[in-house]
Amino acid sequence: MTRALYPGTFDPMHNGHLDIAQRAASIFAEVIVGVYHSPPKKLLFSTDERVDLARAALVHLPNVTVVSFFGLTVECAREVEANVIVRGLRNVADYQFESQIGLANRHLAPEVELCCLVCGTEYTYLSSTIVKEVAGLSGDISAWVVPPVAVALSERFAATRPVPAPDGQSKSEGVSKTRGKMSYHG
Ligand code: ADP
Repeated sequence: MTRALYPGTFDPMHNGHLDIAQRAASIFAEVIVGVYHSPPKKLLFSTDERVDLARAALVHLPNVTVVSFFGLTVECAREVEANVIVRGLRNVADYQFESQIGLANRHLAPEVELCCLVCGTEYTYLSSTIVKEVAGLSGDISAWVVPPVAVALSERFAATRPVPAPDGQSKSEGVSKTRGKMSYHG
């Protein structure tokens, strides 16, 4: 039986991730989505929240389960007895990154194969970063995420959205001062 591990940050899971999980679920007997506990990235959602949102997005796929993991991806693959690591490709940049990491992983765990699946054309521009940035600016993300993820994003940003001050300046409550890509001002 071929069991695949689909690892990632999933902060949060969007429809591009879902597309890859569905493709993997149609190829492999079992797919385990591994939510990386502490990637070197600034996160919006906790590990438990990312796991819950991934479960909500994948609930219709009976051969897919979600776990969280800490440490090396290949060690997680060994732990869950996966013989394949699945990753998604959007473009050449993803290919370059994944082939490099894939070769390092092969060195560490030669028994674990890498399978890169190309996403649907409608997801090639999609990333968790874009989803978060548009959601943070109150944009419509309904085509990009499942409803529970949209609700979680809306609740998270409602708690941190800048409150306009009487003098016209906005008071930021926990919002990063870094200028985002999706607003051409600031
Ligand atoms: P990581 O930090 O491991 O890159 P991500 O959550 O960003 O975690 O991505 C997890 C996996 O999903 C990676 O294989 C990534 O290439 C893939 N992925 C990200 N965005 C998309 C997308 N729009 N379509 C298909 N696959 C994607």
